[in-house]
Amino acid sequence: MLLIVVDQFRYDYLERFGDLFGPNGFRRLMRDGASWTQSNYDHMPTYTAPGHGTMMTGAYPAESGIIGNEWLDRATGKRITSVSDDTVKLIGGNPNDPASSPSRLMASTVGDELRLATNDRAKVIGISVKDRSAILPVGRHANAAYWFNWLTGTMVSSTYYFNQLPAWVINFNNTKPADKYFGAKWERVLPESEYLKRAGPDDPKWEDVSNAWTPDTNTFPHTITGGVSTPGQKFYTALDYSPFTNEILVSFAEGAIVNEHLGEDDDTDVLTVSFSANDYVGHRFGPYSQEVMDVTLRTDRNIASLLDFIDSRIGLANTLVAFTADHGVSPIPEHAAALGLGGGRIPFDAVMGKIQAAISARYNPQGKKPDPTADYLLQFQEAGSWRQWFINNNLYFNYDALKRDGIDVEEFSQVVVRAALSVPGIARCFTRLQLLRGATSVTDPMERRALHGFYPARSGDVVMVAEPYKYIAETITATHGSPYSYDTHVPTIIMGPGVNAGRYLEAATPADIAPTLSALLRITAPSNSTGRVLIEALKK
Ligand SMILES: [Zn+2]
Repeated sequence: MLLIVVDQFRYDYLERFGDLFGPNGFRRLMRDGASWTQSNYDHMPTYTAPGHGTMMTGAYPAESGIIGNEWLDRATGKRITSVSDDTVKLIGGNPNDPASSPSRLMASTVGDELRLATNDRAKVIGISVKDRSAILPVGRHANAAYWFNWLTGTMVSSTYYFNQLPAWVINFNNTKPADKYFGAKWERVLPESEYLKRAGPDDPKWEDVSNAWTPDTNTFPHTITGGVSTPGQKFYTALDYSPFTNEILVSFAEGAIVNEHLGEDDDTDVLTVSFSANDYVGHRFGPYSQEVMDVTLRTDRNIASLLDFIDSRIGLANTLVAFTADHGVSPIPEHAAALGLGGGRIPFDAVMGKIQAAISARYNPQGKKPDPTADYLLQFQEAGSWRQWFINNNLYFNYDALKRDGIDVEEFSQVVVRAALSVPGIARCFTRLQLLRGATSVTDPMERRALHGFYPARSGDVVMVAEPYKYIAETITATHGSPYSYDTHVPTIIMGPGVNAGRYLEAATPADIAPTLSALLRITAPSNSTGRVLIEALKK
């Protein structure tokens, strides 16, 4: 079976650009597969790792433990990533660079269950540009996960899986797959008139590349060098912000199919391919840009190539294919503001200033110096950055300091929440105590999504939600993470044996993919699967 993920792909892209797709890519998935038009993530934050941790586990972050791309590890006081792992080594890149593994994923995957069901005869391999997007969909008992290392421009893995890369991966890297794009010009694949009609001008004033990681322009063509004269880290980073890594992934995936003999015997294998370029491009230019339109049209061609390859080698009639995304994306706040939709950025100082002033007023009314309340909120090791105070819109309390001063945590929570809610642009707050007690209503989608995104050992003590089209202190041009439809509404398509093609209007979520695939494969659903089997599309 094949899982195709496009990172940051809103459901509406299928409709906005649908008539421009070729016959063998997205249009084939919609035509020959079962497509759910009302598929929404039912958790927040809607980030890459939580999404990728959901689609093949059938579990929300509350069950998978993957609550963000990064979070605060209370045990060490450090910011960690969903897949960072000090106990493993990187292979295929510099062995001293950080390496990754699925050891923080708390739920089994479809691949894990297939391996269990077949006495490990099933092969399970994950591929992406991002480590988390390669690792999380295949899970803890996978044969391999490979991702693109922006430091060396190679496909890498870690000693979690094996001690040496397979020969075919070494050979792939020896061809310097990234370097051939050095100096490549990214141009539109169709005439500009199509883009003007659907996306508007190439250089609207809300597009801003001045803070970009690598030098870039607001307009086509984008020349991919990273501002350096030979391929290196800056170029590989710039390549991430182009459509071209999707091409590298397709050829790597084809290499995996051939060299790992995927789909060749009676035991179902699993290949997951997550295309990351769309997310990088979307963050830099926003969902209504010509660039996002173009990367979407190109991804359609990439997916067509991959499906054609599988059809000629294995036969799509013998292949279960699932297609989804890890999250959507919000319009650029300044764009949403220009349209009267209330877009904006909430300054970090406005949030933390109000909260810290309220804490001080309540617990240091005499204004003692130094202020004994200064350490009541946990600052983690991110000196000089707003991230030292909150991450994923979660605030973490310093329990030691609260205990030292005899502060009641419940009352303290309310002080923080009242202060946060007084900041213009903050819509809702949830507290740890409220979520732990289940003092939320499942009929309120925002409360339900907060609960589904809360994992007690990893989440914070107060979770803040901004109003629609607003970001808290994000400088990035466009981003995602909210419980709103623009971030939650994504494609869910399943195509292959046992599936009745068609458009399905029933509510669905990407958490339904894993239990549905498990039913089709006649295996046990993953350990924490809470999604539903999408029976409306299954042959009896
Ligand atoms: Zn993502």
